[in-house]
Amino acid sequence: MTSQWQESDPDGPSEADIERFGGEFKTCPDCGDEVYDQAEFCTACNHAFNIEAEPTGIPAWAMVMGAAVLIAILLFGVIL
Ligand SMILES: [Zn+2]
Repeated sequence: MTSQWQESDPDGPSEADIERFGGEFKTCPDCGDEVYDQAEFCTACNHAFNIEAEPTGIPAWAMVMGAAVLIAILLFGVIL
């Protein structure tokens, strides 16, 4: 995990964005130029990237539910 954007650049991508996009550059398949990973179009040749809304896999509510269940199990473990 990179932390290059943290603190030094408050306007940079959030940590969640870095997690999601890797905070990296991708190579344009058309001209080979390096473009920021979130870019929809190549800055050099205007090639349009196929941006797919990639699901995180685990929805936020599932994380909350999981945490709640874990806490419940721990609590019951202490009581019983
Ligand atoms: Zn390009």
